Amino acid sequence: MRIMLAVFGTSLLVFHLLERWLTPVLPDAHTGPRRAGWRADLLHALVNGPGLSALTKVAAAWALLRLPGVSVMAGWHVAAQFAAYFIVNDLGRYWLHRLYHYSDLLWRIHRVHHSTVEMDSLSLLRIHVLEAVIKNFALSAPFAILGVDRSVIIAYSCIDIVKGLWHHANFRTSVGWLNYLINTAELHWWHHSVERRGHRSNYGSILSLWDWVFGTAYWPKGEWPDQIGVKGMENFSPHYVDQLMSIRYTDAELREMLDKDADEPEILPFAAPAAPQRQTKATRKAA
Ligand SMILES: [Zn+2]
Ligand SMILES: [Zn+2]
Repeated sequence: MRIMLAVFGTSLLVFHLLERWLTPVLPDAHTGPRRAGWRADLLHALVNGPGLSALTKVAAAWALLRLPGVSVMAGWHVAAQFAAYFIVNDLGRYWLHRLYHYSDLLWRIHRVHHSTVEMDSLSLLRIHVLEAVIKNFALSAPFAILGVDRSVIIAYSCIDIVKGLWHHANFRTSVGWLNYLINTAELHWWHHSVERRGHRSNYGSILSLWDWVFGTAYWPKGEWPDQIGVKGMENFSPHYVDQLMSIRYTDAELREMLDKDADEPEILPFAAPAAPQRQTKATRKAA
């Protein structure tokens, strides 16, 4: 965990500085602490990172005690373990991500990540806790139970952190033909695009290969989206509790509520339609 935190802290600082020096994707967007919702993103990180990974370890240890002899991967060479972990995890994340966009119920959870309209490296962290639980238990816990070496998980997680910060950072990087192999900031910004032509594409995590193979890649060479987020949800709450609670609503319900508060973007949009005044106050307190 200490290694991952060090990689995260150092990379975050580097990407934040690069966001100040390099050509931004969205020139008028705020970055860092000036961006609405950055505090909520940090809170997501604390809960989903150290909090959940501790829980995953406990669950895996519990399963190991009850399923003796299941640690089949423990005898493998560490390079083979890494290759298996990398490929299975990356392919699993591709399909899981696709599912988040195609299932109405799962979309409500994943919508929180897409709600950001001023994206920067820290936006990587805006993940609903249920999404983090699903990812940890569906993809990571089985490997822990199979006895994969801790160094494999740490190495993969470090690559994943740096990749995630880069994918969301507000600066332009073009890496040419590498877009056919790895998922890049160019591709991921299109995944966050409001425009229809980009937003159901580029589901890959580290490899973009899956998108090219399964026909979901979108790469308009040299172009970047002008606007990101979810159409009609530009006023999505920047507060942590609101973001967690937002999964109670469908897209249509949410759009209707957000529209009412369109002139007050900082005020909580998730008031129940029947009593908007009272609910708004209550949620303001919670936030
Ligand atoms: Zn997505
Ligand atoms: Zn993203």
